[in-house]
Amino acid sequence: MQNRETVVLLSVEAAQAEILRHVAPLDAVTVPLPEAFGRVLAAEISADMDVPPFANAAMDGYAVRGEDVQTARPDAPVALRILGEVPAGGVAQTAVVSGTAMRIMTGAPLPPGADTVVPFEDTDEARPDAWRPRGLVRVFKAPPIGASVRAAGEDIRAGTPVLGRGTLIRAAELGVLATIGAAQVPVFRRPRVAILATGDELVDVHERPGPGQIRNANSYSNAAQVLDAGGEPLLLPIARDREDELNARLDQALAWGADLLLTSGGVSVGDYDVVKKVLQQRGRMEFWRVKMKPGKPVAFGLIAGVPLLGLPGNPVSAMVGFELFGRPALLKMQGRAGYRRPTITATFTGRLSDRADRRQYVRVRIEQRDDQFLAHLTGEQGSGMLTSMLHADGLMIVPEGMTLVEPGARLAVMMLHWPEVPAQPQRAAAAPEARQGCC
Ligand code: AMP
Ligand code: MG
Repeated sequence: MQNRETVVLLSVEAAQAEILRHVAPLDAVTVPLPEAFGRVLAAEISADMDVPPFANAAMDGYAVRGEDVQTARPDAPVALRILGEVPAGGVAQTAVVSGTAMRIMTGAPLPPGADTVVPFEDTDEARPDAWRPRGLVRVFKAPPIGASVRAAGEDIRAGTPVLGRGTLIRAAELGVLATIGAAQVPVFRRPRVAILATGDELVDVHERPGPGQIRNANSYSNAAQVLDAGGEPLLLPIARDREDELNARLDQALAWGADLLLTSGGVSVGDYDVVKKVLQQRGRMEFWRVKMKPGKPVAFGLIAGVPLLGLPGNPVSAMVGFELFGRPALLKMQGRAGYRRPTITATFTGRLSDRADRRQYVRVRIEQRDDQFLAHLTGEQGSGMLTSMLHADGLMIVPEGMTLVEPGARLAVMMLHWPEVPAQPQRAAAAPEARQGCC
């Protein structure tokens, strides 16, 4: 079949929209709680009971009837008869009545009758040397009624939805899920991504390139990006630019049950490329020139119903292309609501001049200085300069038509990750006015 390729000129947004239109959330699977880390909830989760399930002490101290101790002062303490002790995990056998107190530990249920906990610090317990009558405790400071008590359900109310479908499960989500008894968690299946590097010039990492050859970088960087985006990568062996090899690799990917086929190389516009020919023979493919730099040529289509994203071979283009087109697709497959990276405004410290009439994605290192973000170039910006990705915290977006970017320019930076900063003396932050509890 002699299939003439049609080249479509697209904006990044249009290309993204077209890809997202062709992918849908995958099915849900149920996994044990610890395995849910890093995955996405496939159903809304509600609390099976109140958290905390019962009113309990927020501090070690004495459970009392608040009204009994409202007159307590350092020079006029109130003495109460000690009924006993409740440790965390215990349950008081006696009710607190007027004139009595129950020694109580943090987390222990409040005995019936008590409504307030007086911390040890405000009682004889903070004065180990002081004489005190046997069986009595003196309170030296009046607490507000209800102080140091955590009410039943104050964190989570039974029956209320706690985490929504599409939530990424991180440490806090795991803790909350454990709290509400979600031992088995419904999550979206991880997308399976078959990764195929194409090119006669490529050899694998353990080989020494011969004349005209280079090592395959893209399979590894793309596989790591897939992992990062929650997918499950399968590295196929390199395909040389031959129809039979490409076909065999695509068959292998389909047999594996890939949810996305990710290729690199062979989609440049204008060249005769066997990759394009094979893709066209196998499915409905579009070849795009996306108005971006790096990574203008991108292929997208369906092969046997499975989406195929064909990224250009230049290693930076392959990474940036994955970031802009592959990652959103994988997030959507996992039911995530948002696909966009957070964007900051930063002050550019370098100088760039480029005649391209395409939006540029410039690799920058972000430094936070005083109250602003500085964006430093990571190095030469050629699409073959893979080391420019090494220190890149983000991609600075130079709008189409902006041919000169000078130091001091304020531009948007799409953050890839947030760098740790070296330890340095911190300026004291104003303490927020919120109830913090003891520890
Ligand atoms: P292509 O998109 O196939 O025209 O390749 C563009 C450039 O990227 C060429 O210099 C290729 O040698 C290089 N290239 C292609 N695939 C890879 C890869 N997997 N790893 C590193 N470089 C590659
Ligand atoms: Mg090639």
